[in-house]
Amino acid sequence: MPAKIINGEIIARQIRKDIARSIQIRLSEGKRIPGLAVVLVGSDPASRIYVTRKRSVCEEVGFFSYLYDLSINTTQVQLLDLIQKLNQDATIDGILVQLPLPSDIDPMLITESISPIKDVDGFNSYNIGRLCKRSPSVLRPCTSRGIITLLERYHINICSLHAVIVGASNIVGRPMSMELLLSGCTTTITHRFTKNLECFVSQADLLIVAVGKPRFIPGYWIKYGAIVVDVGINRLTNGKIVGDVDFDQAFYRASWITPVPGGVGPMTIATLMQNTLYACEINEKITL
Ligand code: NAP
Repeated sequence: MPAKIINGEIIARQIRKDIARSIQIRLSEGKRIPGLAVVLVGSDPASRIYVTRKRSVCEEVGFFSYLYDLSINTTQVQLLDLIQKLNQDATIDGILVQLPLPSDIDPMLITESISPIKDVDGFNSYNIGRLCKRSPSVLRPCTSRGIITLLERYHINICSLHAVIVGASNIVGRPMSMELLLSGCTTTITHRFTKNLECFVSQADLLIVAVGKPRFIPGYWIKYGAIVVDVGINRLTNGKIVGDVDFDQAFYRASWITPVPGGVGPMTIATLMQNTLYACEINEKITL
């Protein structure tokens, strides 16, 4: 039987509508509008597209967004100075520094310099550490959190499943492992040095793939009835966007599957908006 599609576009739209409604309620209560600072360094075309998309969703839900469009020649010190100013600016609830950064700027240092209560990407060590320690109130990395929300909204119970993650990046794979642990999965993380990847993938009740290689996982590796979440976004030479899983084959083995595009991608941005609203609420409590 073909898989059922997990449609991230539909769920993300619902989340954006809920946030827009919350903003209207905030305004009627005389509260302020959340503000997101988006920092772009250099002119990487893909980064520019992501930033434009994030800002347009800010507008859709009713947030203020402020773009800091910095030249490729911006130094690390200048960027750190800007982040310090944004950390202290009461109208800014969230700070997002678009990655990747130019090679002479240390992304780790930049991530760590963002105040943990404005770290809407959730990459700061404080927030990652709180996620590891299962602290309830924390800004969580958007892609992994968005995937959990997506599965919850489809009432897909993942507790007790054997989850296998392919890819162990700081942005996706590692925080995903913590989210899955919190959800009650038994989790295996695979990476570049994993031997016999097929052996692990074929055991997955829930498979999450975030590698960045087009159709890297062949469908025949997938266990019948598995839930498949494809995080990868790869543009082919003909312009087509495909994921890291061979969708056409996987579709006939999985029970549920996310498409690319239209699966995880929209959820990442919707979660960024949820985080920004949440950061605004935290900031309000602190300033009360
Ligand atoms: P990344 O930083 O390049 O990480 C890729 C991961 O894959 C690394 O952990 C790497 O292992 C692992 N890997 C590489 N070759 C492998 C192999 N042969 N077998 C198993 N693992 C292997 O990429 P990323 O930022 O996590 O992104 C991955 C993909 O997801 C990209 O296509 C990206 O565009 C997409 N993405 C999508 C969203 C979204 O919202 N949909 C968000 C973020 C990223 P090592 O750690 O050992 O190097």
